Formats: sequence, C-alpha cells, structure tokens
Amino acid sequence: MGEASTQDLVPAAATPRIPVRDGAGNRLGSFPVRRIYCVGRNFAEHAREMGAAAPTSKAERGAPVFFMKPADAVVVDGVVPYPPGTGELHHEVELVVALGRDAPAGALDADAAMALVFGYAVGLDLTRRDLQAAAKAKGLPWDTGKGFDHSAPVSALLPAGEAGDVADFSLALEVNGVRRQYGELRDLVWDVPDILRDLSKLYALRAGDLVFMGTPAGVGPLHPGDHFRASLAPCGLLLQGSITDPA
Ligand code: MN
Repeated sequence: MGEASTQDLVPAAATPRIPVRDGAGNRLGSFPVRRIYCVGRNFAEHAREMGAAAPTSKAERGAPVFFMKPADAVVVDGVVPYPPGTGELHHEVELVVALGRDAPAGALDADAAMALVFGYAVGLDLTRRDLQAAAKAKGLPWDTGKGFDHSAPVSALLPAGEAGDVADFSLALEVNGVRRQYGELRDLVWDVPDILRDLSKLYALRAGDLVFMGTPAGVGPLHPGDHFRASLAPCGLLLQGSITDPA
C-alpha cells in the first residue's frame, strides 16, 4: 500500500484572466475570473424586441432573469471563432461589472452592494439565438444558447474609482463601422446595486465574479469576417475584435 496521492491526474485548467488598466491605458495587473453571471431583459426596449413584456415601473418589474456562462467563455484578445451548432450568432453589447470582494449569500443594501465592485468593462453576451429561441419555446433552459466557448468577449477592466457614475455611462456597438446598438445605463430596469442585491439572495458573491448587466435594443447577427467595436462612454472603455471562421 502506497501513500494516498492527491496529485492531479489530468492537467488543471488555467484560470481565465482579464487585464486591468488605468484610465491612461497603463497595465495595473490581472483580474482572475471565477464566475460569470448574466442578466436578461434589463432594458425595456430590448425586452420588447424579444417579444417579452417590459416592466414600466419598479413596482411591477418582478424579479430579474439570471443565467450564467462558464468562466472560460471569456475572450480577451477579440478573436471569436464562429461557434458550432448555430446559424444565428447574435451580439448583445453590455456593461460588465467585476467584483473585488466576497459577500455571503443574503440581503445587501445599496452601499454594501457597490462596495463589492472592483471595476467595469464593456463586453458582448454572444448568443446562439436559434438555440435560445428553441429552448424558450419549449420552456427549457437557455444554457446551449448562452453558455458556449468564446461567448464572453470583454475589454480590459477599469477600476471603479476611475470610471465615474454608472448612471452617466452609455453603451454602443458598431459592426463593420455601422452602429447597431446604443443604450444609456440610466435606462436599466434593475441598476447595479439592484442586481447585486438580488444575485446575493441566490448566491454567495465572490471576488472574481463578473456580472453582464443586460443589453439595449438592436441585437442582431454576426458572421465570419465581421469586425465589432463595443464602447462604454465617457470612461473610454473599448472592445474591438472580429468573428473568425469556425475553429
Ligand atoms: Mn444579454
């Protein structure tokens, strides 16, 4: 009988990391990603374009729609191979909130929620829309439509202290130089503290978690060869990249 071994018997997967840069573009370090939470239907105009009811007041908005992507769906170099299993890859430009502190599951007030925030990025919640639509029609989970390889391209992260107030941010996406999406973060149905509070009722939030905050109207298709340019103003965050032929 030998010693009981705890050695890894298969290679350990690398932790995905996002570069952190200050407002002047200087690299400050890296952000290791633990989980990716996403919010659905967080802009009323986008909820309507997807055929869903859009809440018109905080009183009637109910609970947000949450789903997840695997941490290794993150893409930091802008190179996105067209995914398998779909004929309808869609872009959704979104604010990405990065958490720098842990919070046990339970209610958070707005100040405690914002104290968790490490920084912000702009990202794309890439979606296999045909698979998501088929799942929705059958009342089935969205996982294959949302949580696939290379489905979460993100910009560098900007520390929250340099970014300013989220309510002043606007999101834009150009594909091949043509504006596809634009939205102002003041129009979120659930703002950042709302979302962190509701997520915290369901999960213990941890440093390393990302939250994709939901997309404004104007989602549409991407094809191999398309170039995308997502931006978050006025803090200057930029995500540029392209869809390449299937891997
Ligand atoms: Mn989305």
